[in-house]
Amino acid sequence: MIRRRSLLTAAPAVALGMALTGQRAVAAPAALTSDSTLLPRGGKSPRIVICGGGWGGLSSARHLRDQLPDAEIIVLERNPFFWSCPMSNKWLIDVVDTAFLTHDMMAPAIKYGYHLVQCEVTGIERDKKIVRTSKGNVDYDFLILAGGIRNAYDVWFGDDVAAAEYTRMHFPSAYIPSAEHLALKNMMRNFKGGTIVMTLPPPPHRCPPSPYERACMLAWHFKVNRIPAKILILDPKPGVAPIGAGYRAAFDELYPDIITHVPNARVKELDPWNKRIMTEAGDFDFDEAILMPTHQAAEMVYYADLIGTDDKGNSTGWADMDPRFYHARSDDSVYIVGDSMGAISPHFGHYPKSAHVANYIARIVARNIGQRVRGQEVVAELPDNLCYMLVNGDPLEAISVEFTYELGPDGLVHQTQIDIDVRTPDLLDEDFVWANGMFNDFLL
Ligand SMILES: Cc1cc2nc3c(=O)[nH]c(=O)nc-3n(C[C@H](O)[C@H](O)[C@H](O)COP(=O)(O)OP(=O)(O)OC[C@H]3O[C@@H](n4cnc5c(N)ncnc54)[C@H](O)[C@@H]3O)c2cc1C
Repeated sequence: MIRRRSLLTAAPAVALGMALTGQRAVAAPAALTSDSTLLPRGGKSPRIVICGGGWGGLSSARHLRDQLPDAEIIVLERNPFFWSCPMSNKWLIDVVDTAFLTHDMMAPAIKYGYHLVQCEVTGIERDKKIVRTSKGNVDYDFLILAGGIRNAYDVWFGDDVAAAEYTRMHFPSAYIPSAEHLALKNMMRNFKGGTIVMTLPPPPHRCPPSPYERACMLAWHFKVNRIPAKILILDPKPGVAPIGAGYRAAFDELYPDIITHVPNARVKELDPWNKRIMTEAGDFDFDEAILMPTHQAAEMVYYADLIGTDDKGNSTGWADMDPRFYHARSDDSVYIVGDSMGAISPHFGHYPKSAHVANYIARIVARNIGQRVRGQEVVAELPDNLCYMLVNGDPLEAISVEFTYELGPDGLVHQTQIDIDVRTPDLLDEDFVWANGMFNDFLL
């Protein structure tokens, strides 16, 4: 029997077994929650709880310690170690090894003097200033939500959890820190030939240039190992962006027989069992796939009931936040750091959902919370962004994109984008300087 699933953008969606309609919160299974008290207060110092110990969360903890030497800082993270998504495409072709990407989280927690609790955040009760976790409840004075993204399979499959789980398990997107990266690398190494489709999420999504980098890494592996592979990049956008000219040159000059970029290919229907995908640019059969669904803010932003709505009252899927001070519009004790952040400016929408921005905003938020606790004026600051993308395996050559921001006379944030489209080895050297600088900032 052919099982076909329809795209359900307008239909009620279900995630983690609970309804997600309009701005209704996603909720964690009740069985996960413990009602005991986790970490009773030690004294009168302010307590800042950080949900999520990835780029944004650990950067926040480290910089808060500088700002507030006496504060109680608690990081709640489900994973036992830190896995860097930045540089993970390079890891696919062994430019870096696993030790480069993975980091012990206990060492920075001890060095900077914050609590690190491995647990699942399962609920947030803002009226009581309590975070519910699988290990018990934690109360806070300030809360930082730094949970990254959720894969919104419900946009494709509605309440069909079986279809979502089958897709996640067989064609993982490998876009969050998890075992999916290993599954992707194994898929690439075991692939004997045929067609791989890669769906890109509609914007805004995590690290916009990185799916194209991933396609280049796979294509390079297939080229040097003479594997007869075709990679179809199914892109909902009308063209490759950012660094469009640099990527198109790489596709045409380095991988002309392997990579095909298909623009305007929004997914209409997906049949993971029969390996068939229907898009607005045509229908495609595949042998293997990297199926990236729509990205949205992490579930914890839904738990906190802080997801924004658009003019028509529909959920934006991202946090509703003050674009200059990064706290929730409706609750200034809750900050949103990293990819879960909502739109910043009508001129460009969201800040790029990048590790660089997550780290930068974390440092600003740490300063802002420090200023508030000390009773000082809170200074609004803007980030910048920088991303290097490897496109060739031999010689190792990268391209890059930079973004700067300034406040315009209209009182809104404006963005300037500079694409560096000419691939050079120097840009990869700069990437290593960037990555090592970041790891030094909050992990070592
Ligand atoms: C392939 C790839 C390449 C990339 N390359 C670059 C690059 O070159 N440069 C760049 O700047 N950015 C890059 N990025 C983007 C970067 O990884 C993200 O922007 C960054 O990780 C965002 O930080 P974050 O803290 O918001 O989310 P994350 O780093 O994902 O951290 C979120 C954390 O929250 C935890 N969490 C979530 N929910 C819960 C819960 N309920 N309970 C407990 N813990 C929870 C997660 O386990 C995770 O550790 C890349 C991403 C990918 C996928």
